Amino acid sequence: MTIDERLLFDAAPVAMVVCDAVTLAILAANDHASVLYQYDRDALVRLTLLDLAGAGDRRALAEALADVPAAERRVLRERRQCAKDGSVIEADLAISPAIAWGGRSARIVAALDVGASKSVIDALRTDAATGLPNRAALAAADLEGAERGAGVVLIHVTWVGAASQRSQEYRDRSARAVVGVLARLLPANARLSRHADDVYAVLVPGARLRSISAFARHVAAAFERPIAVGDEEIVANPHLGIAVSARPQDAVSLFRDAQAALDYALLGGEAVEVFSDELAGRHDRRAVIERNLRHAVVQRRLTAVYQPIVRLDSGEVVGAEALMRWNCPGIGPVPPSEFIAIAAESSLILRLDEWMLREACAQARRWQLAGFARMHIAVNVSSRAADQREFVRLVATICESVALDPGDLQIELGEDALAPNRGALRNLEALRRLGVRIAIDDFGSGASALSALGSLPLDVIKIDRPFVGPIAADAFRAEVVRSVVSLAHQRGLRVVAEGVETSAQAEVLRTVGCDDAQGFLFGPPVSADDITGRLDRARFQTSGSKEALV
Ligand code: C2E
Ligand code: MG
Ligand code: MG
Repeated sequence: MTIDERLLFDAAPVAMVVCDAVTLAILAANDHASVLYQYDRDALVRLTLLDLAGAGDRRALAEALADVPAAERRVLRERRQCAKDGSVIEADLAISPAIAWGGRSARIVAALDVGASKSVIDALRTDAATGLPNRAALAAADLEGAERGAGVVLIHVTWVGAASQRSQEYRDRSARAVVGVLARLLPANARLSRHADDVYAVLVPGARLRSISAFARHVAAAFERPIAVGDEEIVANPHLGIAVSARPQDAVSLFRDAQAALDYALLGGEAVEVFSDELAGRHDRRAVIERNLRHAVVQRRLTAVYQPIVRLDSGEVVGAEALMRWNCPGIGPVPPSEFIAIAAESSLILRLDEWMLREACAQARRWQLAGFARMHIAVNVSSRAADQREFVRLVATICESVALDPGDLQIELGEDALAPNRGALRNLEALRRLGVRIAIDDFGSGASALSALGSLPLDVIKIDRPFVGPIAADAFRAEVVRSVVSLAHQRGLRVVAEGVETSAQAEVLRTVGCDDAQGFLFGPPVSADDITGRLDRARFQTSGSKEALV
């Protein structure tokens, strides 16, 4: 190994050893190997690769290794390995072709801890501030024990006064105080989770309306008194949405009904609202949105804004994500999280996604023609659109019509689009053949495991805001993101962090090896012209500094 190779080996984001191709004696090991197997590096070089095999796998491993021809590389999946303390490690072993090493033939063996990605996923399913399961965990959970139906209460807490503006740390403490209040009131067998920043969810298998309403009233009453947060007392104003089903019902629809009830409460209904068909009828904001959205494209009421995507190591703007904006007559600006979800329930979403693809690709080409040749464009596409038989052709035609290289287009999809039974998978493979990059958006918010992504047609993962938020405050979170990044890199994926708001977060992300980032720190979504202005200024500055060097 040259010095460069040696450095690369030491710094590789994965456990690696070099071993004799014949005797399997370990000749060198990097720090990750020492961490994974819990031996000092010096101790590791006194062992053989078979000493690291788990009980029962030694012979099989020796045979599997002997079976890899010298000129070939191979990945041995899910081998049982054993750390110094006897704990079992489930790892994929990547075996390199034989290399020359100090006069003998050796192989590099990289161990990718599959179990670790499982614990990473567990961490991703936990709310850092309160330790409660988060929404992702809920999406993954089934309604076990709910054969007799279930009740769901969503509790939205609005802080009165300045609490909402305080630091993240303070907000975390407030969240723990809320959990303290709720925990005292929970019915037996209830499951509490944190659904969003200000929303807590209680799921009670087998609950009836009477008991669940009583619980909701107790919660509302408990918040009438100020809550102690540290040495302060603060006041919170709760709104509660309830949905109860006496029959077995899937968690998703029960939560959707509870959300509709909560929306109604927040729109000025009672503090506690129970979902009913009648309430669904009164839920007219939704109806207004749905009606108007149908005309949004023809009435030219949609606009696109763009958020810069920057390379973390250089700060250079290398792309932009197109985000849709809509001003609904009679209501005003509606956030995309709301109208996209409504549109996605019908084929309406296809029209919106197509509009955005055309708009954004044309804009990307304009930037390139203005001299920003490296700009790529990221466009969000719903899983429904990605499933369409015609989708690949649509993308190809749009790129062609504006002369955009498909390699400069990144399509962002939610995890749901990648479910094995979806038509999208075939489309994504075809899109990648065209050169289009495929990104998984909001990674970590859903249920898919990173280890499962390896086999999917993907190029980029975007790490969701909740995991970026506390990264600078908490070494464990930073480590979680580090392992996500290194496993992703191991799988050949690029990693983009979303929602970066502070330079401390950016610094940690840079050190954990994250490639690109987006967030208010680097710039909020703005008009295309604003992005052009920013690119112009950056070009002016770099050409200025080059001239200064001459
Ligand atoms: P997304 O694709 O994950 O987009 C990132 C969202 O995070 C955007 O919200 C952006 O404004 C917001 N954001 C960016 N940086 C920060 C930050 O530092 N802090 C915070 N708190 N937020 C930040 P937006 O524009 O409201 O969009 C929400 C979601 O709506 C998008 O999430 C995307 O899933 C969907 N969406 C937006 N435009 C389209 C579209 O044209 N088609 C489809 N199918 N979905 C879209
Ligand atoms: Mg996105
Ligand atoms: Mg996202």
